[in-house]
Amino acid sequence: MLPAIPFNKPYLSGPETRYIEEAVRSGKISGDGLFTKRCHQFFEQQLGFQKVLLTTSCTDALEMAAILLDLQPGDEVIVPSYTFVSTPNAFVLRGAKIMFADSTAQNPNLDTALLESLITSRTRAIVPVHYAGIACDMDTIQEVASRHGIAIVEDAAQAIDSYYKGKPLGTLSDLAAFSFHETKNIISGEGGMLAINNTKYAQRAEIIREKGTNRSSFFRGEVDKYGWVDIGSSFLPSDIIAAFLWAQLEHLDDIQTQRKAIWTRYFKAFSALPAQGVALPVIPAYATNNGHMFYLVTRSLAERSALIDHLKQQQILPVFHYLSLHKSPFYAAQHDGRELHWADHYTDCLVRLPLYYELTPELQQRVIDGVLEFYVKR
Ligand SMILES: *Cc1c(COP(=O)(O)O)cnc(C)c1O
Repeated sequence: MLPAIPFNKPYLSGPETRYIEEAVRSGKISGDGLFTKRCHQFFEQQLGFQKVLLTTSCTDALEMAAILLDLQPGDEVIVPSYTFVSTPNAFVLRGAKIMFADSTAQNPNLDTALLESLITSRTRAIVPVHYAGIACDMDTIQEVASRHGIAIVEDAAQAIDSYYKGKPLGTLSDLAAFSFHETKNIISGEGGMLAINNTKYAQRAEIIREKGTNRSSFFRGEVDKYGWVDIGSSFLPSDIIAAFLWAQLEHLDDIQTQRKAIWTRYFKAFSALPAQGVALPVIPAYATNNGHMFYLVTRSLAERSALIDHLKQQQILPVFHYLSLHKSPFYAAQHDGRELHWADHYTDCLVRLPLYYELTPELQQRVIDGVLEFYVKR
């Protein structure tokens, strides 16, 4: 039998375990050690971020952002319905009400044409999700946000090394959240990062991340003792996690080159599918592709199920993705009843193909052949 092709396989660049051992032997394995500092510097000095803080997950970075915005119960936050649970949940934890936005017809990003209609006197933030690492229409989002005095929090979980008009995703907002979960391009098992682009949040972010204490100032010698000064939690990762992440960041270019090559092979191989009504990812002129994900959008749920079954019979494991959150068991009763056609369409029809560093051209050809065979047969 042919070897199975999983959807994802975490990639080790090489020095991960060596750096973990170094961290362990250094005698300091709690947060903000040597490897955390190296990771922070890499993002700030080489990738163009003003200030970043590693967190234990993107979920935590989003929760930090929600605390930083000082949301009050009843405040409203605009979030796409087609996203991961953590995007709205972080704000719901602060008592916010979620106004779910629909996706666009061309890709799952939030439809900015509808943005204005979602704004009320209680709107406090817009949370664009750069789906598949492809930028949202940030000029429009920034224009609407600044006109109404609303914050922007980017969910950049999938968006490392991707750009909007030449600017890195995660720098186009007040606060942005990244993920290093093992399914992302750059990984540390679980892990995340908060990027702070509006300096007014910088000091408080450090405090919130350190259990509501000014311990970070204390370690820099700015105060002679530290204490409880605000609300917070324990959002910082152990330096063991940062050591793993550092090994990945050192190989960022190599990882990205490889992922983008795999993505491009899929894109070229499937160039005839749109003529059959199957949509490929659309990357607007203002956006780049970071090789995070390759997906197809089938014509119907039945077609997607049949395609997945067809590939599974050949030991290939494609997966669908989000379920519209405005219809989720938790939020459906609180949703205002608007139909979100495109979010539901991607819920039913989007399917992601295997994409990971070690997907060799031979293995990838099996996936390509499997998909093409399915559509030729039909
Ligand atoms: C992966 C992901 C998250 C959650 O990231 P964690 O690091 O697992 O908390 C949030 N939002 C989006 C869009 C994601 O893809």
